[in-house]
Amino acid sequence: MNQLSDRINNLSTSATLAMAAKARELRTEGKDVIGLSLGEPDFNTPDFIKDAAKQAIEDNYNSYTPVDGYVELKQAIITKFKRDNQLDYKLPQIVVSTGAKQALANLAMVMLNKGDEVILPCPYWVSYADMVKLADGVPVEVTTTIENDFKMTAQQLEDAITPKTKMIWYSSPCNPSGSVYSKDELRALADVLQKHPNIFVISDEIYEHINYKGGHFSMAQFSDMYDRTVVVNGVSKAFAMTGWRIGYIGGPDWIARACNKMQGQVTSGANCIAQRAVITALNESPEKVKFMIDEFKERRALILNLLSDIPGFNSNEPEGAFYVFPDVSYYFGKTIKGKTINNASDFSMLLLEEALVATVAGDAFGNPNCIRISYAASQEQIKEALSRIKNILA
Ligand code: PMP
Ligand code: GLU
Repeated sequence: MNQLSDRINNLSTSATLAMAAKARELRTEGKDVIGLSLGEPDFNTPDFIKDAAKQAIEDNYNSYTPVDGYVELKQAIITKFKRDNQLDYKLPQIVVSTGAKQALANLAMVMLNKGDEVILPCPYWVSYADMVKLADGVPVEVTTTIENDFKMTAQQLEDAITPKTKMIWYSSPCNPSGSVYSKDELRALADVLQKHPNIFVISDEIYEHINYKGGHFSMAQFSDMYDRTVVVNGVSKAFAMTGWRIGYIGGPDWIARACNKMQGQVTSGANCIAQRAVITALNESPEKVKFMIDEFKERRALILNLLSDIPGFNSNEPEGAFYVFPDVSYYFGKTIKGKTINNASDFSMLLLEEALVATVAGDAFGNPNCIRISYAASQEQIKEALSRIKNILA
């Protein structure tokens, strides 16, 4: 008997977390699974951040925090926005949340009414479409192509807009494609939005520092877009702090107030020790964690090189984040190890069961021809994983 709500029954399980759980399960059965499914840096949180957390425990930071975050943390976020993005925010424009994930979920909940449409350039990060649906909104997928580096063009945006469009929502650098929108490309999208003054932008910049070309640009940096862009960011990726669960937004104060109100009813403030540690993380120069970006850059070159040696993997060249998103439709209709591959899910399952390599099927990102491979793993693991994949496909 299923007495659960329609809301939860209609919600998809997060494909990234499901694949990570499956890989963990196989490992407990003694199988040597290489996990390239989860977007999680394999580094430890840097010592200077851990020390700040230890100090916070010693200093008895153990009470509820302000719902929207400690003032000192919001100040550090303001400093970070100014230093890294030349963006000016004041305290009432900042909200600290339990991960960028909660920040995004808040935004869906506070911005959408039933039937409001949200334009998602596709492929998009797994949780966007379900967060929109959870808030009774309607995801409108705009399919992008490898040829256009998986980026939405101004014309595509224009064509997707209807009187019900409330927001556009994207990540740059993009999870899963690694694409980075340039200033000119964002300007072209902004020019379309000038004709539609009621549409808001959610700009997820959590991979900001994991950018191999440099030159991160935010939609909020255009003065004519500042008042209708919410920048979402967090420390999970750049500072290797996924489990600490701290994310934040900068945006119009009336939206920040609404997110604060939402959190006040569902979670209260984010974890106090993690917040204290993040003050230290954000007040430091990003140079301090550049060694991780340099390592990701080497891994990117390695994986692209190894993939180019396996037939049927057609990929763009990611400029940021730590994923490759190859089109594997070449294998559809083929039978490998007795298994017929009809789609990317079958292919990803084949890699898991036969090569013991965990990836994520592209369906969850809105592209059923691709799989996502995370290279936030050691170079040895990447080499071993790609060699296993090559062997079973040979
Ligand atoms: N946005 C994107 C694009 C992501 O890849 C992730 C993955 N963690 C998040 C948001 C959520 O991050 P957090 O760990 O801060 O909740
Ligand atoms: N964002 C990461 C990923 O895409 C972590 C998993 C998740 O939060 O869904 O793999």
